[in-house]
Amino acid sequence: MNIIDIINKKRLKESLTKEEIDFFVSGVLDESIKDYQTSSLLMAICLNGMNDEEIFSLTDAMINSGDTIDLSSINGVTIDKHSTGGVGDKVTLVLAPLLASLGFYVAKMSGRGLGHTGGTIDKLESIYGYNVELNKDDFLKQVNDIGIAVISQTGNLAPADKKLYALRDVTGTVESIPLIAASIMSKKIASGSKYILLDVKVGNGALMKNIDDAKKLAETMIAIGKRYDRKVICMLTNMDEPLGYAIGNGLEVQEALNSLNLHGPRDLNTLVINMAAMALKTFENIPFEQAVLKVKECLVTKKALAKLNDLVYAQGGNLDNIVISNNKIEIKACENGYIKSINAYKLGEYAKLLGAGRSKKDDIIDYGVGIVLNKKVGDYIENEELLLTIYYNDQTNLEYIKNNISNVFELSKEKVEPLKLIIDIIY
Ligand code: URA
Repeated sequence: MNIIDIINKKRLKESLTKEEIDFFVSGVLDESIKDYQTSSLLMAICLNGMNDEEIFSLTDAMINSGDTIDLSSINGVTIDKHSTGGVGDKVTLVLAPLLASLGFYVAKMSGRGLGHTGGTIDKLESIYGYNVELNKDDFLKQVNDIGIAVISQTGNLAPADKKLYALRDVTGTVESIPLIAASIMSKKIASGSKYILLDVKVGNGALMKNIDDAKKLAETMIAIGKRYDRKVICMLTNMDEPLGYAIGNGLEVQEALNSLNLHGPRDLNTLVINMAAMALKTFENIPFEQAVLKVKECLVTKKALAKLNDLVYAQGGNLDNIVISNNKIEIKACENGYIKSINAYKLGEYAKLLGAGRSKKDDIIDYGVGIVLNKKVGDYIENEELLLTIYYNDQTNLEYIKNNISNVFELSKEKVEPLKLIIDIIY
């Protein structure tokens, strides 16, 4: 078997066999297949897709490329959460402690930023001292002791995905349903949790730009979950504007903390409350209205906040010390009007240019930089009122960003309704 034949087959829109997919994944791992060949096959998959059997084979090969975590030693119901990625998506930072405060055991391995979207591990690293790498025994012990651990995908958990993910990020091959489904589900299955909550983002700031593609991705991931006897809930949520106001690692941690302190943004609060309530309804058979009350009680009594504190403390961090740059520039509106749209994708790209994300595989993140919006879709803004604040350190792209960033807003003289956040729930 050879990789060039496999690339050619996919280029010609043919389906790959399980053996060919296994050969590809093991060649990526042992580096007998070069990055340029891998990139070429990834691009062919992006353009020509994969059928269900190919997607299952790819997921299976990625799971088998490394260790799987055995969570049978955990003393309760294990749950995991994953997002397909968005701009300002700090849901894990609020939802994971909330789920733990509700009695679920959250054994979570998260990823770094991908493309224009941020990643939970980069965000957690903006908390001074937070250690994202625990060994398996310490990870399991912490989950048993305090109900939650959030670490970086360990070196040997779906290692093939780790390599493919980093390469996709820099070769324009992120936005593909088969590749995203196999990437997410291989990690979720290998991480061992019985229940899986997936946040499938839809819109200009998401990997899925339209509802049909998002539904297809959700159904593909649910089908993979079924094969491995996992229960999966997919929430399809709006990413036509950033979630909350903050974009950038430290800034997002601060906003998540505000949310657990009961003064977070409304859209973020709505989403975490609904996701947690859906978990209680589907996995614990609690009627939805009752589940919402239970979730709100954990927030109001600050039990969820206490869990975040426990988590950060257990992993060596200090929430009083979140990296946020002191260098700020305020951008003001130059006309009155209702905010009709906010281009989340472009804001993600601007945040990346400021240093909040990577353009190359080994770029170093600046945890303190980013953007904080002052308005959301549907809000009214006066001429000269604050539109957003840029937090920066490096000045290389600053002038360009400063001169162009207000173009991400589209204003209207007519009243505009806020965006519908939760588009669909599939399970
Ligand atoms: N998140 C992942 O883990 N993988 C993808 O491919 C996209 C988002």
